[in-house]
Amino acid sequence: MEKVKSGELKKHIEEIKEKIELNDCDIKRELEDLIKYRVPLEEAKKTVLRKNSFAGSRTKNIDEIEPNMKGINIVGRIIKTQKKEIKVNNKPLIIDVGVLGDETGFCQFTCWYKTSLVEDDYVHFKNVFTNKWDNRINVNVGKKSFIRKKSNNQFPTKQKLMNVKKKSIAEIIPDDFFATSKGIILQLFHRKFIDENGTESTYAEGFIGDNTAKLPFKSKIFNFDIGDLVYFSSAFIELDDDLPYLIFDKNTKISKIDQEKDEKLKKLRYDMVNKTHEIAQLSDLVHRIYFYDVLIEGTILYIKPESGFIRKCFECNKQLEANKCNIHGVVENYTDIYVKAVLDDGTGAINIVLDLKHLEIISDKVVTDLKVELNNDCSKDEIIRILTSNLVGINLLVNGNFVNNSYEKFLIVEGVSVPQDQTDYKLNYLYSRLSKLEGHLSDR
Ligand SMILES: [Zn+2]
Repeated sequence: MEKVKSGELKKHIEEIKEKIELNDCDIKRELEDLIKYRVPLEEAKKTVLRKNSFAGSRTKNIDEIEPNMKGINIVGRIIKTQKKEIKVNNKPLIIDVGVLGDETGFCQFTCWYKTSLVEDDYVHFKNVFTNKWDNRINVNVGKKSFIRKKSNNQFPTKQKLMNVKKKSIAEIIPDDFFATSKGIILQLFHRKFIDENGTESTYAEGFIGDNTAKLPFKSKIFNFDIGDLVYFSSAFIELDDDLPYLIFDKNTKISKIDQEKDEKLKKLRYDMVNKTHEIAQLSDLVHRIYFYDVLIEGTILYIKPESGFIRKCFECNKQLEANKCNIHGVVENYTDIYVKAVLDDGTGAINIVLDLKHLEIISDKVVTDLKVELNNDCSKDEIIRILTSNLVGINLLVNGNFVNNSYEKFLIVEGVSVPQDQTDYKLNYLYSRLSKLEGHLSDR
C-alpha cells in the first residue's frame, strides 16, 4: 500500500474540493479506499474527480455559460418556472421551463421531465448542457443531469436578483432578462383574452418611452393612462425574434410619478405622446441594436437572390419550413412572395423584406408580372429579373422595427408607401449610377 502522510493527503483533498462538491470526510474515505487497493495516488485523485464531478467540470457562473457546453454545473435561484405540455414522438411530455439567476446574470432553463421546482428555490443543476433557444442561452436538464435543491440564506433572493440596475429605455437590450426604468405611456390598448381556465380577462398593451427610445409592453393589470410617467422595476423582458418587449407581471413593481407641476416635463410628455413620425437617417441608427417604429425614406438598390415564392401558414402567416408551420404543424397555407431588397437612404443601407401586400402598394405592374409567372412555373432567375426591373431605383417610404443583430441590419417592414413624385428620385438615382460609372471609366 502506498504510504501517504496525512498532511500530504489533506493537500490533495483541498485540491479535489476545489473542483467538486464533496466534503473532506467523503473525499478522504474514497481516496483511502482506492489507495488501499493499490491505486496510485494520482490515479485515485482522477477517479474521485471523475466519479463525483461529471467530467471534472467546475461550477460555472451564469455569465460564463455559452451555447453548446456539455457536462457543466450551475448553481442559482429559480426566478420563474412554468410547466409546459409538449409532444415528443406524438407522446405528451410535461417539461419545466423557466429562468435561473445568480449574481452574474440570468439564463433560460428547460427540464426535460416534470420537477417539483418552485420559484425562489436555490438549486444545483449538475451535468447539464446548453444550447440557444429563442435567441437566448438555454440550460438543459436532461436524463443524465441532476437537480439538487438546497437551502442557502446567504444567496440573494429572487426578488433581490430581479431588481436590476436602472437603465434608460434605449439601454435595455435583448440580452437583458429584467428591466428597471421609467418612461411615459405613449400608447395604450386594452384587449380581451381567454386564459387557460376559460375565463375572459383583459390585458393592456402599448408603448412606453423616454427621450432615448420606446418599447412595447404587455400587462394583465394596468391602472395607468396615456401620458402618465411611470417608474417600473423587475419587469420581465420577452423576445419577439430579436426584439425585446416588457412584461409587467406579478413580480413587477410599477408606480406613477406625479410631476404635474413640472412644466418642462409636461411639455416633454405632450410632445412625446403627440409626436408625428420624422424620417430617420440610417447613419443615426447604426449604433443601435434595435429601434422600434422608425420611418425611413430610401431607394431600392438591389434585389437579393434569396427572393422568391414561399408558402405561409393560414393561422399565423409565418413561412412554412419543409411544408410545416413551426407552431401549427401541417396546416392550410397560401403562396406569398418574399422579396429581400437593399434599401439605401444616402447615409447607409439596410435589408428590407417585402411581401405581396407591400408590392400591391408599390407597383401594380410587378404584381401582374409575378402572377403571370407564378402560373407558368417560372424559374428563380426570371422572378429576380422581374423584381429587379420593376423595383430597383424606386423610392420608398417604409416604417417598421429596425434590428441590428450579428448577421445583418434590417427593417421588419410594417408599412410602405411610394412618395408621389418619383421623377426626382429616379433622376438622382440614375445620376449617381452614372457618376459611379464615370468614375470606373476614368480609372482605366
Ligand atoms: Zn402557423
